Amino acid sequence: MQINNYDYRQIAREFSKFFHSSSLTSSYKPVLFKAILYYLKKGKNDKLDKKNQIHFISVKQIARYFFRFNFVLYKKFKLKQLRSKTRSIKLYEIIDEYFPNESGDKIPRNIPDECIKQIIKLLFRNVIYLLRKNMHIYDFYDVELNFIDIKQNLKDETEFNRVLKDLGKHWSDIKYIGTPENIVHFIETQRPLLEAAILANLAIFLETLNLIPNLQKKLMIADRTYTKMRNISAIEKSMLYFYQRNRCFYCGVDMGNTPEADHFIPYNYLFDSKIWNIVGACHECNRKKKNYIIDEKYLNRVLERNLDDEFINRFFGDYEDPKFHISNFNQLLKLHYQNCLNYFRKVNIARK
Ligand SMILES: [Zn+2]
Repeated sequence: MQINNYDYRQIAREFSKFFHSSSLTSSYKPVLFKAILYYLKKGKNDKLDKKNQIHFISVKQIARYFFRFNFVLYKKFKLKQLRSKTRSIKLYEIIDEYFPNESGDKIPRNIPDECIKQIIKLLFRNVIYLLRKNMHIYDFYDVELNFIDIKQNLKDETEFNRVLKDLGKHWSDIKYIGTPENIVHFIETQRPLLEAAILANLAIFLETLNLIPNLQKKLMIADRTYTKMRNISAIEKSMLYFYQRNRCFYCGVDMGNTPEADHFIPYNYLFDSKIWNIVGACHECNRKKKNYIIDEKYLNRVLERNLDDEFINRFFGDYEDPKFHISNFNQLLKLHYQNCLNYFRKVNIARK
């Protein structure tokens, strides 16, 4: 057994080292750690070596959580994780290979084993060795929970890290990460703090690459610690449809009994349901538009609509200086529209 018996102050120091060491170059480290926290929270750490006080964390399950969280960041929110335009991020390549764009942004129920295997390989290659190096929090075990002594025949820690990075010959045999009881207990007692630290770290990293609104909220959704409040109130909706004389904002047809509220700038980008970005649309137009962005002529119509006196009276009547607020909203709308083109695809919804 190679794991030292740390006291809590030491563990805290190691965790802090983990978060602050090396540059902020990837989301892998925090997301992997998130996956471990999630795994422990789920109570799936039923495998426990009582004698040696070791919890066994399934590498496969961790890879699944890692995949899911990143799937949301990538497919739903289209977050960039690389500065380069020409290179692509390996993780996103793997996700695309198994779930091409047509398959939508819903987290898949079944993730193929081969896909998970690739994720595991990626984790071992890029981040698990770092976790080991910085935190000394685990050792490796095979499917039968036998200790895999990677250090055997190795001279020192440097060589150990090199072997881990090169995958060594063992990585595919490694099924469990063994974490000592005191670390697990530390995680349990410090959970809220650790979760907040991880999300903050991720946000700081992603903010350097993405100019998008409500990043923190998006991370919390991906993390399932935040329930979204997407819906516009029924009263606001009916006021909007009435204002539009029940005609579709896009095509002008009568919306009949099935008017729908559409987020002009896609909800998954703006992550907000303020009325200045909402229009009433017929089912047909809304279905075509989905989470896409559409032609600039419609942007101009929304901007004009927002400045219309009747619209202002209905929705901003109680504002002290509505025109001032509306002009701010319209500025934002224009900025978001342009920037959104970097994230969401543009489609044509005009009827043939
Ligand atoms: Zn329509």
